[in-house]
Amino acid sequence: MSPEHDEIAVVGAGLAGCLLACFLAQRGHQVALYERRPDPRTGRVERGRSINLALSERGLDALRRIGLDEQVMTDALPMRGRMIHPVAGEPQFQSYSASGDRAINSISRGALNNALLDAATALPGVRVAFDHRLVGLDPATGEMTFETPQGKVTANARVVLGTDGAGSAVRGQLLANGLLEESLDFLDYGYKELTIPPMGGDFALDPDALHIWPRGTSMMIALPNPDRSFTCTLFWPTHGTSAFASLGSPAAIERHFAEHYPDLIPLAPNLVDDYQHNPVGVLGTVRCTPWQATGRVGLLGDAAHAIVPFYGQGANCAFEDVVELDRCLDECGDDWTAALPLFQQRRQDDTEAIARMALANFVEMRDKVASPLFQLGRKVEHALERALPGRYVSRYELVSFSTTPYAEVVRRVRRQHQALGVVAAGAAALLVGAVGAALGRGRRR
Ligand SMILES: Cc1cc2nc3c(=O)[nH]c(=O)nc-3n(C[C@H](O)[C@H](O)[C@H](O)COP(=O)(O)OP(=O)(O)OC[C@H]3O[C@@H](n4cnc5c(N)ncnc54)[C@H](O)[C@@H]3O)c2cc1C
Repeated sequence: MSPEHDEIAVVGAGLAGCLLACFLAQRGHQVALYERRPDPRTGRVERGRSINLALSERGLDALRRIGLDEQVMTDALPMRGRMIHPVAGEPQFQSYSASGDRAINSISRGALNNALLDAATALPGVRVAFDHRLVGLDPATGEMTFETPQGKVTANARVVLGTDGAGSAVRGQLLANGLLEESLDFLDYGYKELTIPPMGGDFALDPDALHIWPRGTSMMIALPNPDRSFTCTLFWPTHGTSAFASLGSPAAIERHFAEHYPDLIPLAPNLVDDYQHNPVGVLGTVRCTPWQATGRVGLLGDAAHAIVPFYGQGANCAFEDVVELDRCLDECGDDWTAALPLFQQRRQDDTEAIARMALANFVEMRDKVASPLFQLGRKVEHALERALPGRYVSRYELVSFSTTPYAEVVRRVRRQHQALGVVAAGAAALLVGAVGAALGRGRRR
């Protein structure tokens, strides 16, 4: 038997794949990491493709387990709340946590990927094959076919793990073999990246916040970068009269932004060029089942359950997958035929829960955050958190600042709301009773 037959193949050296390689090598496995792109540590970043992301507790928890959290956090920019930009008037800051000091962290996606790649390749037992795009897989034998600059090559592995993202070729191969069912729900919104460069050598906006321009049918956000620029992401419908394609000329682009995002105009000198040349990315939710086949092929991260980005959780959730698979391997003594189904059983409710919360958060971010009623609700929520520490915790805190399983977050928030409903109903009943008694006394006098 060739040494390849003993290897675990991880297909896709993105965020989940590199972290997974680290965890597997720590368990003593021989790992072959296959990546369709050239080595990103030597290449250029693709234009307009989300260069930063928000890392929060779930992702940090995973990085801590391989001792990479401190290194990654050196270049992170903490964002303690949302800065809401109305069409007219001053921006308003809304803290993410009751204490005001908890933060999600803006980090460079490329730097994070490279740090994970460095960590993986530094471990004995990990080898990486760049420029290897998986195009074929025999789920029964683990034989993989790759397209490379030198032509097609084949390789074998004991177990094949697909961490090749939302458009996973590994998932596609399982589908083609009738071993899996999938559903892809594309949003009728796409996204385009724009840039706010540094101004006079400094950040042009407050770097301690995630900036949001909620506009109902559209929305823009901006996250700070270590080079003092901001990456803006504009979310807008992909079809229709009010959509990306509706702005056909520089004048139309400038007019639109002057009307809807007036404070952006003086901050974004390359707005028209960015708008005309950066691609429109698609957004959607991927669901599939099962996440494994024949006990030797498995899916993790976006390949199994891609979600829309509105809770900033896709990568955090993918990292959490790796931690859970590692736990399952512990419990199953590295028996993959037992660990892979157990992994799906443990994670599927959680990934479904965050998929739904991420969709709901889109409505909150683009429609609700600007409303005075929503802002009052957040203040009441933070007051409750301070009054009932540990007993009332907001959904945002549970998702972003804890590792409480996502499905448990949903159940706990429901219980909290029910309890509040009972208290509010009780208080209302007491009030009605008191008012009734007072009125009765008034009539008797
Ligand atoms: C606009 C936007 C903003 C986001 N913001 C956040 C955020 O703030 N916080 C957060 O946690 N998440 C965020 N996400 C989600 C996050 O990017 C993903 O959930 C995360 O990257 C998933 O990691 P992954 O490793 O599963 O997949 P990916 O990061 O997509 O990695 C897949 C890898 O597989 C490789 N590959 C693909 N096909 C093949 C093949 N056939 N053969 C070999 N290799 C292949 C790819 O080149 C890539 O390297 C955002 C996503 C978008 C689109």
